[in-house]
Amino acid sequence: MIDLHTHSTASDGTDSPARLVEVAALAGIATLALTDHDTTSGWAEAADAAARHGVGLVRGAEISAIAATRGWGTGVHLLAYLHDPAHPGLLAETERTRDDRESRARRMVDLLSEDYPITWADLLAQTQPGTTLGRPHIADALVAAGAVRDRDEAFATILRPGTRYYVGHYAPDAVAAVRAVRAAGGVPVLAHPGADARGRVVPDSMIEELADAGLAGLEVDHRDHTPDTRRRLRDLAESLDLLVTGSSDFHGAGKQNRIGENTTAPEVLDAIAEQGLLEVLR
Ligand code: AMP
Ligand code: ZN
Ligand code: FE
Ligand code: FE
Repeated sequence: MIDLHTHSTASDGTDSPARLVEVAALAGIATLALTDHDTTSGWAEAADAAARHGVGLVRGAEISAIAATRGWGTGVHLLAYLHDPAHPGLLAETERTRDDRESRARRMVDLLSEDYPITWADLLAQTQPGTTLGRPHIADALVAAGAVRDRDEAFATILRPGTRYYVGHYAPDAVAAVRAVRAAGGVPVLAHPGADARGRVVPDSMIEELADAGLAGLEVDHRDHTPDTRRRLRDLAESLDLLVTGSSDFHGAGKQNRIGENTTAPEVLDAIAEQGLLEVLR
């Protein structure tokens, strides 16, 4: 089993990178990708654990980006695999995103503190130093304060876009992000492109534009895609000569997603390994 999209405590997963690799080994995953939001800070710990547990490791990240289509900005997630983590262009963008994620979390906590008993210290208590901050950590602070039962309830109510507490954050343009991932030697794959329950999704014309800019693949098999969406995306991938991946988007205890619930074909992993600057650790 090959699972190419998971999160650790380096971003909004609930398992440390080492524990995540152990969970993967126990679930029978042969090759795992660690793809924390806008950071590679979990790579070293995951690599160490992967060697101990005999799990193959694809070092990756999930890059926040904004696709500009006809005046609308649609938030998209770009999986980057096997890139140089120190490449200045990509690093500058992810650092800017993480900085603004922190400012945004501060603004959201300020707004929330008018109605709920949470402070910045309460949010920090839910995170490791250096974590890429996200709404899931705010959700955890709200759970600790007794305002909601779990992350799902927080996302369905208080933290939904459109509430008076929601604040967006900076992210680079999606076409520029695809180019930056390629410039860093990475393999860019568009994450959950048809996840319409999260909000607007990008039109096929934008996926074509991303393909022209160097996009390598589409994450087709993902729990946020209906069977119909998967068929449509598979056809689109074929017509644009893009790879097709599948993955769990596992977040530990923070989401229902089970590790390995969707998987990627071995020949697709081979193609990614071929295109990437770094090696798959085995
Ligand atoms: P943010 O990027 O800070 O706006 O937060 C959105 C992120 O929260 C997405 O990457 C989701 O995968 C993640 N997330 C974690 N747990 C949940 C949950 N229970 N419901 C919805 N999204 C979640
Ligand atoms: Zn996440
Ligand atoms: Fe995502
Ligand atoms: Fe994700």
